[in-house]
Amino acid sequence: MSWEPVIGLEVHAQLLTSTKIFCGCATAFGAAPNTHVCPVCLGAPGALPVLNRRVVEFAIRAAVALGCDVQRESVFARKNYFYPDLPKGYQISQYDRPLALGGVVDLPGAGAGRQVRLTRIHLEEDAGKSLHHGFPDSATATYLDFNRAGVPLIEIVTEPDLRTAEDAAACFSRLRDILVAIGVNDGNLEEGSLRCDANISVRPAGQDVFGVRTEVKNVNSFRYLQKALEFEIARQRAVLESGGTVVQETRLWDSASGRTEPMRSKEDAHDYRYFPDPDLPPLVVDDAWVAEVRATLPELPEARKARFATRYGLSSYDADLLVRVLAGGDYFEAMVAAGAPAKAAANWLSGEVWRRLKEGGAEDLSALPISAEALAELVQLAESGVISSSVAKDVLETMWTTDRRARAIVDESGLAQVGDTDVLRALATQVIDRHPDAVAEYRAGRTNIFGFLVGQMIKASGGKANPKLAADLLRALLG
Ligand code: ADP
Ligand code: MG
Ligand code: ZN
Repeated sequence: MSWEPVIGLEVHAQLLTSTKIFCGCATAFGAAPNTHVCPVCLGAPGALPVLNRRVVEFAIRAAVALGCDVQRESVFARKNYFYPDLPKGYQISQYDRPLALGGVVDLPGAGAGRQVRLTRIHLEEDAGKSLHHGFPDSATATYLDFNRAGVPLIEIVTEPDLRTAEDAAACFSRLRDILVAIGVNDGNLEEGSLRCDANISVRPAGQDVFGVRTEVKNVNSFRYLQKALEFEIARQRAVLESGGTVVQETRLWDSASGRTEPMRSKEDAHDYRYFPDPDLPPLVVDDAWVAEVRATLPELPEARKARFATRYGLSSYDADLLVRVLAGGDYFEAMVAAGAPAKAAANWLSGEVWRRLKEGGAEDLSALPISAEALAELVQLAESGVISSSVAKDVLETMWTTDRRARAIVDESGLAQVGDTDVLRALATQVIDRHPDAVAEYRAGRTNIFGFLVGQMIKASGGKANPKLAADLLRALLG
């Protein structure tokens, strides 16, 4: 029998506001434990939450970018459960009336052309963090850091539209690209500012009803998401093929063993006793606000890639690299604005520059110590033939380690190619005089000797003769 996997994702994205969702505490990552806390986010009795307007704006931004319907009125609810890292004993979330409904994600790569529907996007606060390791008494004690309590999140829920582990990872990756491009999330999976839980079931191919699902947590990379789902698909199939039944449960991915394991079932069959938070009025978002946010939305990654391909004639590989990895393509466009020919600028970025960045362990352009204007200057010098391409690479190297401009490096070290016609004509005459045999051969029709003569010219110039101009002049003189 063949089996069909069914997958739906729940993505939590931390919004890039500088303060928390219901208080003025900072959201900055990496601060000393419990230094970004106050009575509101610690849940002191009587402390009242006040909604951060910027959080709502960012959530609307995400909703609009993903094609969701922003609801005119949504409601904050209390999700009640006991856990040490939850200071109030409930999490403020949205439940039956979320901020946004619907929306779609277009799948990239192998899934291109297919769409995954979104169910909803809602706002909620993050919980604190339990620290189980690293203290002298960690064997018997758990410490708590509430800096993260009250950090704003959106949860994006997809319909169970995904059918392969690969598509699920691609869908998550596409969501990341969009959230990063619109500036609402930093896309950092390792630090947990973007997290994905995957719900997965399998069913006999052709059956309409979904099978029993498990929820896989603790995947902090796209590759792990794919691996965890592949593991879970195989595991559920094996259970069903041996006549067993899949238990609905939450499972944790363990990257060391490459397996998912059942999690302590703290949340199983949980009754969260949701009810509207009496301390927060319904959130009202009028059409004007949505329109205003929509108007400030930047170009989305897919649209930008398509524009780069048509407007600048870039390959889809280059367009993808520039937009997804190399600063969203902004750096590239700044080079073009500074006068660099587009194709050459893209080639330099995706070639030399990217190669050198990767050697240094970089994953994007942020480690590049050269401004777009300065790099554009270098590319122009190389493109116009002032310097040869191998000299250009050396100049790039110097620019990387000093803050000198290309023009200055070239002028000071006399690296410019000789393009002066009088100088080149003198060189050509000299070469013709010195190599009468080769000249005779050329004139007798054995024209492949021509390369040798140009080589002699370049040699006589100390490697600086512009090869194309040199060849043109020599050819003219040889008649
Ligand atoms: P919960 O209330 O437990 O979070 P939801 O109904 O909100 O459950 O669904 C959570 C996620 O699980 C959604 O992404 C949804 O698409 C997905 N999902 C629901 N049923 C299934 C199923 N049978 N197999 C796989 N995924 C599913
Ligand atoms: Mg859920
Ligand atoms: Zn606070």
